[in-house]
Amino acid sequence: MSDAGRLSDTVLFRCRRFLSNLSKNRAVSDFFLSEIPQMDSLFQKELDFFCYFAYTESVWIPKIFVSAAGADTEREAYHLNREPNRKQPAAPRGSKPQRGGGIPLSAIGRKIMPAELVSEKLEKRERKKTKTEAVQAPAVTKIVSAESAQQPAPRTAGVQKAQPRNERPVRAKTPVRIIPLGGLGEIGKNMTVIECANDMFIIDCGLAFPDAEMLGVDLVIPDFTYVERNADKLRGIVLTHGHEDHIGGLAYLLKKVNTPVYGTRLTLALVEAKLKEHQLNGKVELNIVQPRKTIRMGCMAVELIHVNHSIPDAVGLAIHTPAGVLVHTGDFKVDYSPIDGGIIDLGRFGELGSRGVLALMADSTNAERPGYTPTERKVGESFDKLFAAAEGKRIIIATFSSNIHRVQQIIDCAEKNGRKVAVFGRSMVNVITIARELGYLTVKDGTIIDIELMNRYSADRIVLITTGSQGEPMSALTRMAMGDHKKVNITPQDFIIISATPIPGNEKYVTRVVNELMKSGAHVVYERMYEVHVSGHACQEELKLMLALTKPKYFIPVHGEYKHLKKHAELALETGMQRDHILIGQIGDIIETNGIDMKITGQAPAGRVLVDGLGVGDVGSIVLRDRKHLAQDGLIIIVLGINRGDNVIVSGPELISRGFVYVRESEELMEEARNRLTDALERCAPHELRDWNALKGRMRDVLSDYIFETTKRSPMILPIIMEV
Ligand SMILES: [Zn+2]
Ligand SMILES: [Zn+2]
Repeated sequence: MSDAGRLSDTVLFRCRRFLSNLSKNRAVSDFFLSEIPQMDSLFQKELDFFCYFAYTESVWIPKIFVSAAGADTEREAYHLNREPNRKQPAAPRGSKPQRGGGIPLSAIGRKIMPAELVSEKLEKRERKKTKTEAVQAPAVTKIVSAESAQQPAPRTAGVQKAQPRNERPVRAKTPVRIIPLGGLGEIGKNMTVIECANDMFIIDCGLAFPDAEMLGVDLVIPDFTYVERNADKLRGIVLTHGHEDHIGGLAYLLKKVNTPVYGTRLTLALVEAKLKEHQLNGKVELNIVQPRKTIRMGCMAVELIHVNHSIPDAVGLAIHTPAGVLVHTGDFKVDYSPIDGGIIDLGRFGELGSRGVLALMADSTNAERPGYTPTERKVGESFDKLFAAAEGKRIIIATFSSNIHRVQQIIDCAEKNGRKVAVFGRSMVNVITIARELGYLTVKDGTIIDIELMNRYSADRIVLITTGSQGEPMSALTRMAMGDHKKVNITPQDFIIISATPIPGNEKYVTRVVNELMKSGAHVVYERMYEVHVSGHACQEELKLMLALTKPKYFIPVHGEYKHLKKHAELALETGMQRDHILIGQIGDIIETNGIDMKITGQAPAGRVLVDGLGVGDVGSIVLRDRKHLAQDGLIIIVLGINRGDNVIVSGPELISRGFVYVRESEELMEEARNRLTDALERCAPHELRDWNALKGRMRDVLSDYIFETTKRSPMILPIIMEV
């Protein structure tokens, strides 16, 4: 915004809101003093901002002066009043603001902002002007740093007695609320709401995969009720990275509330592909944001910080709020020799820590594992050895499609060994295409070949990259193992590497696939045997490093089951944090902090919403119970025809069963069941045949008693009465 003198509507709105807050008459000047750093954050980059109180007609009236930054040789301030119509007309671009429209600063009698601070701000602006490509420092810290320049003492309570303006006691600030809607006490469907005053934004919106109990359910997403109820406050969604457990629920949320989405380039490219599947492409505002840049979310600002993870372009977040700075690590690890994208921005985390972090939310996935997570390069070294060992054989490597660094290492190894690469599995093909287009994957021309051309190369000149490292039943690797893949037939000439660890719950699928591959005579290498996989999450020493760098006042372990959160909390205790400053939350907790303390102040609706095909949330516990019942004991349908006129049974009872017994081998049982039902119906008086609900209940009871007696099974019984 360089139009001199022109205030954007948002800024006007904020100023007015600020004024109306001021007029709520508490010790007005105190209020102003505590608010000014936040105001500065609101208007950084765009505006200079001053406020003073005029003593008119025996009352103090707050006045705000705002001037556009950038065009001022001589500072021009514009008087902003309470009436909306007093806005100055927009000055043409580049022209000097109109004198007389505002009052020059020199004319202001009572400036609350100390002169030193003003001059320091001006000096800073000058310095900034000289840096052309300067990265904007996050807003809130600007004033803070000006303060600490005057006074080197740390900004803790009661230390700053030397300066009169710091004599005021530490006061409660506008509280900020942290509301986890997923990812706490569970693995997956990560989602957190951050709310302050009239503004709210969301960090991530992921999915989880159903557990064995959820029959027929495709995926699980968070409960969006709280977001829907507060949709008017919603300013946007920030994504930390492109894994399913962080972006998988996004399309479902955007169908309910359409709001801008922010993230790094790769993350948004992956999101775009998802939106297409949901016919949402072009309907959602996607904003690419670079690490170290800041997104404004109403009265809050979110800064992206580069981290290492098992997908490129992952970020953690620093959230600058009126109550203080919150740091959310996202999924992270520390890789000192990353394949691409640079080492995690430890410097920035440290900087934030030394300026004061109110609360840290950190990834707990690997909190149980001691030591450090090895670098991704370790896997490359293992590949080198294994490629040598696989001499003369065809190599098949299964891994996560999103692990582009892993794919890069496979491709590098293939190129080094003069092998061509063929790609299998829809998600693998998609991700590799996107990553190549965006330059996240470097592949020589001719390395990747069409799978149709695969047979032109001998076994020792080819590498197949495939999905299915989790033994997913429909994946390419599983189909190869089961012998029903159209293009690939497993033989003893195959050298297979499963470059992943089974996600808890998937072990049995992976084992089955490994067994089948081995039965075909193939050589199979999986994680326990060689270092063909490293985790994307920080282990204990890295977690302590993050705590040490950010030095948070409060700590909330996130992303993990309860045992992981608990372990992470213990690590924080080891680093010297106070027990009562660590909060293990649950999804739905409304965690509130005003800068002085932090507590759970309420509950938001939270839970799991099951997605089955096109149905979202229509599979509830009753449906699940029925599915489980059907799956375990099967179904018997009783069909009965009744003439409504004279209430006479005209056909049936007929019995149809599914998943209960094989009828041809149990004719006797079914025959006897039918006889029992017929007997019961014959005993019914004509009036009893009129109440169909009672009749259905009676048939159900008779049949289930008999079936249980003879088989000790309880199939679902479904009586159907037809009017004839
Ligand atoms: Zn992740
Ligand atoms: Zn994750």
